[in-house]
Amino acid sequence: METMSEDPNIFHLTAVVYGSAPGDPQDDDAQIEAFGELPRRVEVKFKARIPDTGLLQDQARLDTWGQLYTHSVYADLKHSQDWRCAFCDKPARESSSSFASWMHLRPPRMNIFVHLLCDASGPCGEEARDAVLTLNASPPLRFGQTYPQAASCVSCQSEESAHSDLQRCSKCKLSRYCGVDCQRADWGRHKKVCNAITEVTWAWK
Ligand SMILES: [Zn+2]
Ligand SMILES: [Zn+2]
Ligand SMILES: [Zn+2]
Repeated sequence: METMSEDPNIFHLTAVVYGSAPGDPQDDDAQIEAFGELPRRVEVKFKARIPDTGLLQDQARLDTWGQLYTHSVYADLKHSQDWRCAFCDKPARESSSSFASWMHLRPPRMNIFVHLLCDASGPCGEEARDAVLTLNASPPLRFGQTYPQAASCVSCQSEESAHSDLQRCSKCKLSRYCGVDCQRADWGRHKKVCNAITEVTWAWK
């Protein structure tokens, strides 16, 4: 429940990241039998301060700012688990993302739906495009040009760091690091993301 007194310059972002884990059954029915109706995912809620109240007067600029904001938290969403592709067992390196926004609301809201993928230009990318049709969201965008494994450390993003047992940031319990040095090196970037995270909910057994 939102209260009347909530700061109107706060922007609400909900990110839903879909993927799979090593050894997951690939067949839809087998997955439902093994895990129930909820696919593997993490839902992350953010509250960010809108930097310039003038944005609230300009829907197009506010929408663009919201999309840029999601880019700024994207690495933390991606490097959050020992993720495999949402549609096959290969390591997740790429993604397909869709936005749905309600920027006219006060506070404004945006949802982003991310499917972590082996290869967004291949058949798994096709499946992701089909999946988001049901979410009533915008067409998918691709992020980035190089594709480190999602299972790797959010800071160094090296292949060697891609393990199931990386340490999570103890505050947000989302971003994963290969060690204290990487966590320290990333804190200047991560702290804004970390402070904006209000809730992390895993559908993962
Ligand atoms: Zn795949
Ligand atoms: Zn690292
Ligand atoms: Zn954190």
